[in-house]
Amino acid sequence: MIDYGWFRVIVRFVGVLLVIYFGPTAVIAAVSLAINLPNYLSGATGPEYTYIVLAIISSVLTPAAAAGVGVYFALGGNAFIRWCMRGIGNFCPTCGYDIRGLTATRCPECNGTITPLAARDAAMALPAPHDPPPPAI
Ligand SMILES: [Zn+2]
Repeated sequence: MIDYGWFRVIVRFVGVLLVIYFGPTAVIAAVSLAINLPNYLSGATGPEYTYIVLAIISSVLTPAAAAGVGVYFALGGNAFIRWCMRGIGNFCPTCGYDIRGLTATRCPECNGTITPLAARDAAMALPAPHDPPPPAI
């Protein structure tokens, strides 16, 4: 069972927010650029061309890229979620299969390489504390 649905909900929500915020910004910037580009370029010299290119990148391409990421997230962002969950929690880094309780080094779902949780936990274990924990009240 894959139980990281909460994370998928957050990714989709962030995607919707990105689209709502950056989508109109990208469209307005692109339309404004299309209308004004001839004015920008008339009489422009070499350094001014550099500035114009940087202005195009910052005003149009940046919000367009953010909106594109938002669309990808809103549609699920599967590769991103797999990347985030890689090595975290109890899931196969390749397919997201729940590997709790497994001792094998191969995922039974996709045959990808996995690190059994017991071995990983032992490798990441903190040293024993010097003092015992305080008694429960
Ligand atoms: Zn797998």
